[in-house]
Amino acid sequence: MPHSTSSGQLAAGEREDGQVSRLLTWLSATAIAFLVGIGTKAWFAGHETHAWVLWSFIGLIAVNMLHFASTGNRARQKAGMIVIVGLLFTYLIASGGESNTGPLWFYVFPPLLFYLTDLKTGTAVLLFCYLVAVVVFQFPGLPLVSAEYSMDFKIRFFAALTFESIFCFVLEASRLKARNELLALAETHEHAARTDELTGLANRREMQNRLTMEFSRYQRSGHHFSIALIDLDLFKQINDQFGHDAGDDVLREFAALMRTVIRQADVAARWGGEEFLVLLPDTSLLQALSLAERLRSQVARHPFRFRDQALPVTISAGVCSIAKARSLDDLLKQADLNLYNAKESGRNRIAPRVRSQESEPSPTHSP
Ligand code: GH3
Ligand code: MG
Ligand code: MG
Repeated sequence: MPHSTSSGQLAAGEREDGQVSRLLTWLSATAIAFLVGIGTKAWFAGHETHAWVLWSFIGLIAVNMLHFASTGNRARQKAGMIVIVGLLFTYLIASGGESNTGPLWFYVFPPLLFYLTDLKTGTAVLLFCYLVAVVVFQFPGLPLVSAEYSMDFKIRFFAALTFESIFCFVLEASRLKARNELLALAETHEHAARTDELTGLANRREMQNRLTMEFSRYQRSGHHFSIALIDLDLFKQINDQFGHDAGDDVLREFAALMRTVIRQADVAARWGGEEFLVLLPDTSLLQALSLAERLRSQVARHPFRFRDQALPVTISAGVCSIAKARSLDDLLKQADLNLYNAKESGRNRIAPRVRSQESEPSPTHSP
């Protein structure tokens, strides 16, 4: 059965990316409103340059929003936002903002950063911003740097920021761990719901889904497919003679053997008890019969053993192609009828019989 590993993870990743994008759009709009307000306040307080710098950040955020709206590139939307916010906060530290309160905005950065990027990138960007802040604090004479802070403020600023960053890191790491465990759990359950426990093949429900999908594909684009309904011969006798565990072993071993005979695109399922169904996409009746015959002869030749005892295992199968059926139900009914005919005409055989098979000597039940 083809494995859809990590399809759940992909879907979850896609969903989360969508959420992040929506939040970013909302954050950008809020930031623009804030910058308009703070810029206007600075303007009326007589700090024209500060006002103009704040307003120019509005332009940057707007460009980032428009770029995302036209390209839909989420990675660039995130990176753009991080760079703009990083620049804005650096400016606020360097200029001091209003009454030297600019650095306080920096506390918004760690949670935002860890939310937007992975832990490694977040830590790297944060360390870089620390470095910039240290340089600004240590060298108030640099161009563009106009704020001076007291030693007490600097120590408290860094101490509080460090605590905050560590908490954000730990929280994000545990959120990611819980998320991944949950996704893995969901995937295990989803796999279990589609799989037969004993043989590891698809179960009946999964096969019904696959048949429905294949039938719609046939109706849409005329791709033919066939099925083979396989039943182990006189299986009750194996259970009665060698025990239920021997029977289980045979089912497992037969499933493993069948996997080696079918193609990658075929789907094999345990249809019930000792009955199996194989779905063969893009396969004609003749091709399906030949595959079923190959499987039958391999099973008849295969030495099934349980605790050093040889077990007499053979199969019978009823094959049918969708070209000969009116509906999915009809297809299954005809395959079942053919299986019945195979059993009636002596077991260890495939039905319907084609001419080349009819000339063969009648196969007998292997010992
Ligand atoms: P036929 O050739 O006509 O199919 O004969 P049969 O004995 O195979 O058919 P029947 O339907 O009489 O018996 C099927 C047996 O399969 C009965 C049931 O106990 C056994 N069986 C069904 N599921 C399992 C299973 O999971 N494990 C084991 N060990 N036996 C099973
Ligand atoms: Mg049987
Ligand atoms: Mg049966």
